Amino acid sequence: MSDLQTQMDLEQQGVLFTTINKLYNWGRRSSVWPMQFGLACCAIEMIAAAASRYDISRFGSELFRASPRQADVMIVAGTVTKKMVPQVVRLFNQMPEPRYVISMGACATSGGPFRDGYNVVRGVDLYVPVDVYIPGCPPRPEALLHSLMTLQAQIDVQALQQVRWYGDDEGVVNEFPIPVFGAEGLEVAGIPGTADPVGGTPKMPPFVSPALGGKGERDASIKALEGNQPKPMLRAGTVTIEEVGHGIAG
Ligand code: SF4
Repeated sequence: MSDLQTQMDLEQQGVLFTTINKLYNWGRRSSVWPMQFGLACCAIEMIAAAASRYDISRFGSELFRASPRQADVMIVAGTVTKKMVPQVVRLFNQMPEPRYVISMGACATSGGPFRDGYNVVRGVDLYVPVDVYIPGCPPRPEALLHSLMTLQAQIDVQALQQVRWYGDDEGVVNEFPIPVFGAEGLEVAGIPGTADPVGGTPKMPPFVSPALGGKGERDASIKALEGNQPKPMLRAGTVTIEEVGHGIAG
């Protein structure tokens, strides 16, 4: 019989064995409090998830906090506009560690249907590191609950000696640059010029997900940049359905 099986058998009889890591993770995973804010239609699904039909308190996440200083997870639920993203980053900076980000829906993850618009950022992970992404437009409340379970699974395997918020690892970033409005759009400290120009490619790659070991650094691989290429512009004039289906550049 394996050690794990023995442990489970004993737990069924009321004898508990644990480790510091397991106890610490159990405490955090069972009380992940979200910040109380929403950005667009996805927020309605988030609100539905908190209502009686879905009972988010099964996961210990029913306490939506009105202050970032009391919140553990930021659920970015909705379209992140360039007007709003400075506030999103500022609020994230005010959250204490350990803190997490769930990107809810196509808009928060990539800009969604507004990706090529002049006013929408192409993924909130260009500005803050994201732990869990939820696909969909909008994702249903069940998908949000699944993302909480995914986050709990990520917390379960963390070890006190390795998490980024303890120790004095110099590579860890705790303050993320708050974008400011420049002459032609948003400017981000450390990125020359306009960071996310209209009709162009964002000049900065997204942050590496903490779930993949990221400590607040950007993913500098070319692949990440290619993922942010804008769609080709349609030419002026009448366009047939077939041409749209195959995509036309220029
Ligand atoms: S992903 Fe869809 S439902 Fe969610 S905010 Fe964007 S448009 Fe609205």
